[in-house]
Amino acid sequence: MSSKFPEDATPVAGLALSKKTALVTGASRGIGRAVAARLGRLGASLAICARSRGELERTAESLRNEGMRVLPIVADLTRADEIQQMIEQTCTQLGEIEILVNNAGVGLFGPFHERSESEWDAVLDTNLKSVFLASRAVASRMIRLGRGHIINISSLASKSAFPGGAIYCASKWGLMGLTACMAEELRSHGIRVSVVCPGSVATDFSPHSGRDPATLLQPGDVAYAVAMLVTQSPQSFISEVDVRPLRKA
Ligand code: NAP
Repeated sequence: MSSKFPEDATPVAGLALSKKTALVTGASRGIGRAVAARLGRLGASLAICARSRGELERTAESLRNEGMRVLPIVADLTRADEIQQMIEQTCTQLGEIEILVNNAGVGLFGPFHERSESEWDAVLDTNLKSVFLASRAVASRMIRLGRGHIINISSLASKSAFPGGAIYCASKWGLMGLTACMAEELRSHGIRVSVVCPGSVATDFSPHSGRDPATLLQPGDVAYAVAMLVTQSPQSFISEVDVRPLRKA
């Protein structure tokens, strides 16, 4: 298979995830797309979701051209009913979800006292509440299977404070607590819940003007960490991965 996504073209040996179904949220572009491509190259059947149909369909087509089985689902993760439908459609058409990557997220920055309640809701509903809803919907199914991975894409912003970051940091700091408690509840069922915290990644998410590109992560770097988590040794539980560019800005 030749890669359409040069940012994550590192070859992967073997098909460690064949017969497994992975659902990656926010996978029409950026980190989610790279994660989906990497899991697909490991043999997983893929469900990918986003709000914008055109971009999602184009990504699905590119992945299919690499030989992957892909189900694109248009869903707005700020809506509980659409999350539930997305989970049910994935399980019906691809089989039980063994890997859920809660990646979709939005950034909104600026002084907190100038932000509106609706902006707070949009960020928290996307970055935090959707992870609760999607994970809740798959947890009982994974418990019945006796295995599974839930991987939440957080940020190094979940461990730092900076001016203009209040709403985004609140969502990502909250995500860390949610992840850690979910992990403690599910590990006895053979389910790993883990979190990946990247630094700045070269995507459309936020402007990186003036930054030396060599000091930014690429989406494929995050995808590599996700692939590592889902292929770890049977009795280990890698709970948290921080990902930084090798060269400092
Ligand atoms: P991106 O390029 O903007 O992609 C975001 C993806 O999420 C898109 O597919 C987008 O598609 C989807 N999405 C957004 N809101 C959604 C919603 N309500 N329902 C369904 N899908 C939605 O962003 P990215 O850089 O890849 O970021 C992915 C994750 O990594 C986020 O959680 C972000 O916080 C985290 N992260 C990013 C960076 C960075 O520097 N880029 C650093 C650390 C962590 P639609 O717009 O079509 O819905």
